[in-house]
Amino acid sequence: MKVSIIGSGYVGSVSAACFAELGHEVICIDIDEEKVKQINAGIAPIWEEGLDELMQKHTQKTLIATSDYDYAVQNSDASFICVGTPSGEDGSIDLSIVKAASASLGRAIAKKDHYHVVVVKSTVVPETTEKVVLPLVEEYSGKKAGKDFGIAMNPEFLREGKAVYDFMHPDKIVVGAIDERSFFVVSELYRKLDCPVTHSNPRTAEMIKYVNNSFLATKISFANEVGNICKQLGIDTYEVMDAVGTDFRIERQFLNCGAGFGGSCFPKDVKALIGKAKDIGYEPQLLRSVVGVNDKQPLKMVELLQKKLGDLKNRRIAVLGLAFKNDTDDIRESRSIPVIAELLRLGADIAAYDPMAEESMKHIFHDVTYCKSAAQALEEAEGCLIMTEWTEFRKLDKEFDAMANRVVIDGRHLIDPKDISTDIDYEGLCW
Ligand code: NAD
Repeated sequence: MKVSIIGSGYVGSVSAACFAELGHEVICIDIDEEKVKQINAGIAPIWEEGLDELMQKHTQKTLIATSDYDYAVQNSDASFICVGTPSGEDGSIDLSIVKAASASLGRAIAKKDHYHVVVVKSTVVPETTEKVVLPLVEEYSGKKAGKDFGIAMNPEFLREGKAVYDFMHPDKIVVGAIDERSFFVVSELYRKLDCPVTHSNPRTAEMIKYVNNSFLATKISFANEVGNICKQLGIDTYEVMDAVGTDFRIERQFLNCGAGFGGSCFPKDVKALIGKAKDIGYEPQLLRSVVGVNDKQPLKMVELLQKKLGDLKNRRIAVLGLAFKNDTDDIRESRSIPVIAELLRLGADIAAYDPMAEESMKHIFHDVTYCKSAAQALEEAEGCLIMTEWTEFRKLDKEFDAMANRVVIDGRHLIDPKDISTDIDYEGLCW
C-alpha cells in the first residue's frame, strides 16, 4: 500500500521506516526542511536502535521525504498524523500542531479525486479525532467524512530506545475507526505483523493510549511512594517489589523506585488526561497524586546531597545521566532537568556527562560543564548524582577514586557499593 506520514519525529520516522520494511511505499512529510533532507539522504533524523539501517535500506526506493502535502496525499492511500501534542500552560493538551496538520491535509484532500484515509497516530485526548480533526479536514477539503474520506485513530505504544523493535513486534494494535472502510485500510497496513488488532471507535482508541500510559506512570509513582516509606523503615524496597511482583495480577515491571518518570509521554499524557477529566467536571485525585509524587522525587536527590555536604555553593557536583532514560538522546521531561535547575539555584558547580544527550541539554543549561566521560565528570567532584540508568554507569569503580569527596547518591539503583573496590559514601534514593 501507499502511505504518507506527517511529522518525522520519534513516532513518524520510526513508523515510516517500519512501514517501508513491511513492504509499503512511504512518503514522509515534515515542515522542517533539514529533516526532509536528512531522510532523503538516508539518515535518521533521531537516534533509535536500528533506524539508520532501515532508513539506508529503503530511502530513495520505497521511502522518500517531502514538505509538499499535495504531492504526498496524491501519491498515498492514507496519511498518518504523527506530529507533537505538547502540554499547554495548564498541563492540558495543546492541539495547535495537530490542527495545523489537519488543515494542511484537508487542503491537499480537496485536490484529490480518490478516497483517502486520515489516521491520527499522535496521542490525543478522547474526542479529538471526531470533534477536532474530522471537522477540520471536512472544512478545508470541502468533502464528507465516511463518504469521500475515512478517519481512524491508531495510537502508538512504542518505547523510545526500542522503538523499531516495538513497532515490528507489537503486543497490540488498536484501530479506532469511524467506519469499516477506514478500519480495513489501516489494519491492512499491519497485516504482516502477528498480533491481535483491537477494532474500536476513535474515542475508545484515544482512551486506550492514555490509560496504558497513566497506569504505567501510576505503577512508578506507587513504587516511589512505597520506596520512600521503606527507606525510613530500613526495609529493602526492591526485595519487597521482587516478591510483590511475582503475583501475576501485579507483574514486576515498572515497580522500580527512583528519581521518577520523564520522557515525552508519561508526564504529558497523565497531565492531559487530568485536563480532559477537569473539562468534563471530574476531579481525578489519583492521577494528580501520580504527578505530585513524581514532581517531588528528583528533588529528594538534592536534599540527600545537602544532608551529606551541607551548603552546595561552589561545590563541584557530578551529574551522571541527562537523557530521560538509557539508550536515547531524548531529554524531554528528564528528571535531571529539575535536579540541575535546583543545583544551579543553590550555586553548585555542575560537571555533567551523558553518552548521548549532551547536545540537547546544552540548549537548556549553559552554566554547566559538559564532560566527555563519567570519569572526567567525577574528577575532583565533591558529590555525584546518578540520574539515568546507562549500562556504563554500572561498571564505574576506580573512577570514584578521583573524587574530592566520594559521596554518591544513586537515583536509579545502579550501583552496589559492595561491588566497588573503593570506599564510597553511598546512598540510594529510596533504599
Ligand atoms: P516529535 O516532536 O519528535 O516530532 C514531531 C514532528 O512533526 C517534528 O519533526 C516536526 O517538525 C513535525 N511537524 C510539526 N508540525 C508539522 C506540520 N504541520 N506538518 C508536518 N510536520 C510537522 O514528536 P514525537 O515524539 O514523534 O511524538 C509525536 C506524537 O506521538 C505525540 O502526540 C506523542 O505524544 C506521541 N507518541 C510519542 C511517543 C514517543 O516515544 N516519543 C510514543 C508514542 C506516542
